[in-house]
Amino acid sequence: MEERLKQTQKMEALGQLAGGVAHDFNNAAAVVLAGLTLLEKRHARLLDEGGAEVRRLIAGISEGAERGAMVTRRLLTFSRRDELHAEDVDLARFVDDLEAVLMISLPPGMSIRAKVEGTTPHAHVDPGQLRTVLINLVINARDAMPAGGTISLGAEPGGAVVGEADEDRPPTAPFVRIFVSDTGTGMNQETLKRAAEPFFTTKPSGQGTGLGLSMAHGFAAQSGGSMRIESEPGQGTTVSLWLPASRNAATPPKPPGDQRQRRVH
Ligand code: ADP
Repeated sequence: MEERLKQTQKMEALGQLAGGVAHDFNNAAAVVLAGLTLLEKRHARLLDEGGAEVRRLIAGISEGAERGAMVTRRLLTFSRRDELHAEDVDLARFVDDLEAVLMISLPPGMSIRAKVEGTTPHAHVDPGQLRTVLINLVINARDAMPAGGTISLGAEPGGAVVGEADEDRPPTAPFVRIFVSDTGTGMNQETLKRAAEPFFTTKPSGQGTGLGLSMAHGFAAQSGGSMRIESEPGQGTTVSLWLPASRNAATPPKPPGDQRQRRVH
């Protein structure tokens, strides 16, 4: 309990700090990008005189500022300045659609399967944020499988919420479990313990922000649910999010013969 309180306080403090920094940084990046646009518009001749070298430098500066702006957007999400707009989301369809999009962006030797179990209730969540969170989880799964493997993206009726929300306050509504699992490297005890800490990363500098899992955790908690990570070194990892089910809608299972996209496990 004490541990969790500390973690919450840390998240709050970091959230506020990140929000402030992100705001200032965003302004700075906007000034750089506006300056570059003006330079290109008004001084094209000067740039041409400078030759390829100048163009290359300008492109580098522009790319750096764009990257900075992207990190800023992630920080703003993390600091929860982004309000959640919950609506009824048909998770069976959501998972299928996301599978189709992600399938084409994975490297060779890696595949993704949608797994939808039985009658899956709709969830009451912010679909944009859910998409961002799931994409981050799939990127983690991809990074954990340098030799290739299979990523599963699934949804099923979740029963009661597990983890912290379970202890603090009994669930008042049914939940839907949505998960991403991989057959990758897994995590050792130390990494597993710290994985959802903000800014904790084991990735080489420049490749990880250490915000993916803490954002996922924040999103689940803010939506009224919870997150659990299960991982076994050498076996793989499963990250589950329990999200509140919508009270009035569910997608019935597809009739036999129409299961192409939604392989049931
Ligand atoms: P980042 O991906 O930027 O490092 P995350 O918060 O998403 O930040 O993850 C934190 C750390 O948790 C990762 O650096 C990695 O060590 C570990 N991790 C996360 N997902 C997985 C996974 N699917 N398999 C193995 N390790 C993982």
